[in-house]
Amino acid sequence: MSFDVALVREQFPILKREIDGNPLIYLDNAATTQKPQCVIDALVAYYTECNSNVHRGAHRLADEATRKFEAARDIVKHFINAPKREEVIWTKGTTEGINIVANGLGKLLKPGDEVIATGMEHHANIVTWQQACKASGATFHTVPVTEQGELDLEVYQSLLNSNTKFVAFPHVSNALGTLNPIKELTAMAKAVGAWVLVDGAQGIAHGGVDVQEVGCDFYAFSGHKIYGPMGIGILWGREELLSEWPVWQTGGEMIATVTLQDATWNVLPYRLEAGTPNVGDAIALGEAIRWFSELDLVGAAAHEQALIARATELAQEVEGLRMIGQARHKVGAFSFVMSEGHPADIGFLLDRQGIAIRTGDHCAQPLMNRFGVPGTARMSFAVYNTLEEVEAFFKALRKVQMMLA
Ligand code: PMP
Repeated sequence: MSFDVALVREQFPILKREIDGNPLIYLDNAATTQKPQCVIDALVAYYTECNSNVHRGAHRLADEATRKFEAARDIVKHFINAPKREEVIWTKGTTEGINIVANGLGKLLKPGDEVIATGMEHHANIVTWQQACKASGATFHTVPVTEQGELDLEVYQSLLNSNTKFVAFPHVSNALGTLNPIKELTAMAKAVGAWVLVDGAQGIAHGGVDVQEVGCDFYAFSGHKIYGPMGIGILWGREELLSEWPVWQTGGEMIATVTLQDATWNVLPYRLEAGTPNVGDAIALGEAIRWFSELDLVGAAAHEQALIARATELAQEVEGLRMIGQARHKVGAFSFVMSEGHPADIGFLLDRQGIAIRTGDHCAQPLMNRFGVPGTARMSFAVYNTLEEVEAFFKALRKVQMMLA
C-alpha cells in the first residue's frame, strides 16, 4: 500500500476536533503524537477483556495478559532489530530509560573517566550525565552545535580519547529537528572503547532504528512519540551490560531469591523491571508499532520532507522570521523566532485559530542559550500532517504578525 495521508488521517479520531470553530491543526507532534483508533481499541480491549497481573497468576486472564504483554515486547524487538528479546526493557519513557543507564554507569565511573554528551540535548540526556559526573568525580564534556544546528564533528573527534567511558547523543534534536549521523558518531566513540547511548525519543518515529546496524550499546525511546500511550517506553541495551551493571529499582519481579538478609537478581528483562509493569500501555504500544510499521514508511518520509521543504520556503517569505536550526538533514521539528512577538504570544494567537504548536525552551535550555534566544516557536510533524496544514499555518502566522505589529 502506498502512502496516503487522507487514509492515515481517518484513523485518528482526535483530528476531527474543532477548536473555537476552527478545524484542529495539530503541529505539536514532537511533544506527543495523537493515537490511531486501533491503539485506543487495544487499550480498551485490554481493560475490558483480560486485565490481570502478568507472570504470576495461575488463571486464564493472567495467561492472556502475559501472552499479549510479551508479544508486544517481541513486536518492539523486531521493530528496532534488537538481537535478543531479553534486551528490550519496558520503562515509563525515554527519561526513565536514560536514568536506568545513568544509575548503572554512575556507579562505575571514577575520577579520571570522561563522559561526553552534546549541546543539543533534551534535559533528560544532559542533566543525568552531568549529575553522574558530579557524583563520581568524572569529567563531563559537551560537543558544540554549529550555527546551522549540527554537531561539530571535529570537536567531537578531539574530545574522544582513551579515558572516554561513555558518550550520549540524540538521534534527532527535539528543538531543531537535526537528524544526527548516529552510526558515524557511534563508530567514532567505539574506536576509543566508549559505551554509547542514543536518545531515540525523536528519532524512533522519523526513520526508526536498527540498533545492530548503528552499533550503539543503548537506545531509549517513549511510546507516546510513536503513536502509543504515555507512561510506557523502551530501553534497549546490550545483554552483557544490562545484566552486569548495578540494578535500577529493587522489589518484586526483579529478584530470584530473597532471604531476610540478602537477595539475588532475576535474569533480563525482569532484572530491570521491578514491580507490576504497565501492562495495558505496553500492549497498546505494541499495537502502535505494528500499525506504524505497516505504513509505507518510505512514502511517509518523503511526505515529511515535502512538508519541511514547504515550511522552509514559506518561512523565507515572512519578514522578521529567523529559523533556528537549518541542518542539512532535518526531520520532525521546525523552530523559529520572530522579530515582533514572544514565542508564547505567537503560540497563544495561533491556538485561537485552531493551530497547536509548542513554544518555549523545549527542555533544551543550553541549546536556546547557544542561539541566544529564550525559546522558540516550534511546529513539528507526524504522518497525518498535510501540505494544506503547513500553508494554513503560515497564513495564520501572518495574521498573528499583524496583531502583534
Ligand atoms: N529526549 C528527547 C529528544 C525528547 O524530545 C524527549 C521528550 N520531549 C525526551 C528525551 C523525554 O521523553 P519523555 O518525557 O517521554 O521521557
